[in-house]
Amino acid sequence: MDGVTETIDALAGLLAAGGVVVLSGAGLSTESGIPDYRGPSGVARRHTPMTYQTFTGDPVARRRYWARSHLGWHTIAGAAPNAGHRAVARLQRAGLVDAVITQNVDGLHTAAGSPSVVELHGRLAEVVCLGCGNLTSRWELHRRLREANPGFAAAAAAVNPDGDVDLPDEAVAGFTTVDCTFCGTGMLKPDVVFFGEAVPPARVARCFDLVDGARSLLVLGSSLTVLSGRRFVIRAARRGVPVAIVNQGATRGDGYAAVTVDAPLGVVLPALADRVAGEPVGSPV
Ligand SMILES: [Zn+2]
Repeated sequence: MDGVTETIDALAGLLAAGGVVVLSGAGLSTESGIPDYRGPSGVARRHTPMTYQTFTGDPVARRRYWARSHLGWHTIAGAAPNAGHRAVARLQRAGLVDAVITQNVDGLHTAAGSPSVVELHGRLAEVVCLGCGNLTSRWELHRRLREANPGFAAAAAAVNPDGDVDLPDEAVAGFTTVDCTFCGTGMLKPDVVFFGEAVPPARVARCFDLVDGARSLLVLGSSLTVLSGRRFVIRAARRGVPVAIVNQGATRGDGYAAVTVDAPLGVVLPALADRVAGEPVGSPV
């Protein structure tokens, strides 16, 4: 038996024992065509991450964020769950995974049929008013931004076919942002946790409770660079809850892990689900 087989066997053993809590990150969604975001802000790796302080304090930076984000929304909204998300949902339905905590803001666990998901960093599909707290749908904002900026998307697409390149300053300067329609003046922000912004304490407490009650913690597709997610791995290790990590590349949690697997999630997870979930392949969601 080689090392890889032993590692997969150990992982299968943890899953088969049940009581698993999953902590997922950007690596789980890359196979859905979502860029590997460096953090919760939804700003891709080659750009400086937007902070809450910059977003709220700098009107030019905020206009740039919305202009780029307006162009990138179709990529996020059009993404479909991949084999990894579906495998997690199967493991949940089989009663082996109790809960999913995700650092991702794309909603793809829920789209894959996972019944219980804690979205640690919020959802890009919702928009919050920082004035009155009103929550609205991102599609509604998309419609308003499109109406406020006729021709903008087509003009930008001509310059930036992949929709993720720095827009020229003059293009950003011509972009019109909109405010909350509920209170009339409030600043709108994607309902996600930006860098420099704390995850709501009640949400963190719920995640700690889930980790404390877990039989094992399974990290999927996160390099655990951000303490926001890594703290749950540290907590599990301190409480004697075994940690397993499946990720492409090393992570900052490897030192806490009983099992680490460096392999594509879309290959490993369906194979594991086939082995332990006891549900026929291709059964309806
Ligand atoms: Zn408002």
